[in-house]
Amino acid sequence: MSLKGKTAVITGSNSGIGLGVARELARAGANVVLNSFTDTDADHALAAELGKEFGVTARYIKADMSSGAECRALIEQAGACDILVNNAGIQHVSPIDEFPTEKWDAIIAINLSSSFHTTAAALPMMRKAGWGRIVNIASAHGLTASPFKSAYIAAKHGVVGLSKTTALETAEEPITCNAICPGYVLTPLVDAQIPDTMREYKMTREEVVRNVLLARQPSKEFVTVEQVGGTTVFLCSDAAAQITGTTISVDGGWTAL
Ligand code: NAD
Repeated sequence: MSLKGKTAVITGSNSGIGLGVARELARAGANVVLNSFTDTDADHALAAELGKEFGVTARYIKADMSSGAECRALIEQAGACDILVNNAGIQHVSPIDEFPTEKWDAIIAINLSSSFHTTAAALPMMRKAGWGRIVNIASAHGLTASPFKSAYIAAKHGVVGLSKTTALETAEEPITCNAICPGYVLTPLVDAQIPDTMREYKMTREEVVRNVLLARQPSKEFVTVEQVGGTTVFLCSDAAAQITGTTISVDGGWTAL
């Protein structure tokens, strides 16, 4: 599978799943654009190292995915966008009646609305190039719910709906749009919610991992970022040219329960 000559833009890709996806796309030969809301030497060095490791062009472009204008500017600055991976995301864990409104707004903006803005900006480029792949990183929480994650779950269900609509609007074109729904992947985002969950459930860290995070993941193993990246590369392959408007669960059996 070679994605040589394709340019991939991965939002929220200076850590976790986004970085893992960027690495697998680069391994497959794609030039990559990394992104986050920071603009540090480390961000640019990360892109430089990735480019060197895989022999591709890798750039880092700062853009805050909570701003629609910056989402669109990211795609414009990339100059080309054959593969768009909407991955940026944040989490907040709280009962609905205590959920801070600003957290709700930020999660909906970053986890859902950003994908609308980047997709709107990327589609004309994909049409011009005559090929495009949009991969939205949703979640098992795009298909099922859990308590205390109202904004995240509403946003991820929204991402699944947006993916279906994008697929229908591009169905007769050589462009596909799908959502990957990972179960728990041990990344900084998951690590950061363990203390809140420990407080909510009055549990130790080990109890939270086994009995809460992986309670619904029958494999009892975390998904790896490489597995999400590999699934993304598959969705960019010719074998997946007729796969559009669907969800692919990478969740150790979670949604089979
Ligand atoms: P992470 O915290 O490691 O990475 C999130 C990325 O988004 C980081 O690069 C961060 O810098 C970036 N980001 C955050 N706010 C941003 C903003 N305003 N603008 C631009 N970038 C921003 O988390 P992760 O676990 O790698 O999550 C990545 C995606 O995968 C998220 O959409 C998340 O919902 C989804 N996901 C994660 C898991 C999991 O178990 N980790 C499971 C299913 C889905």
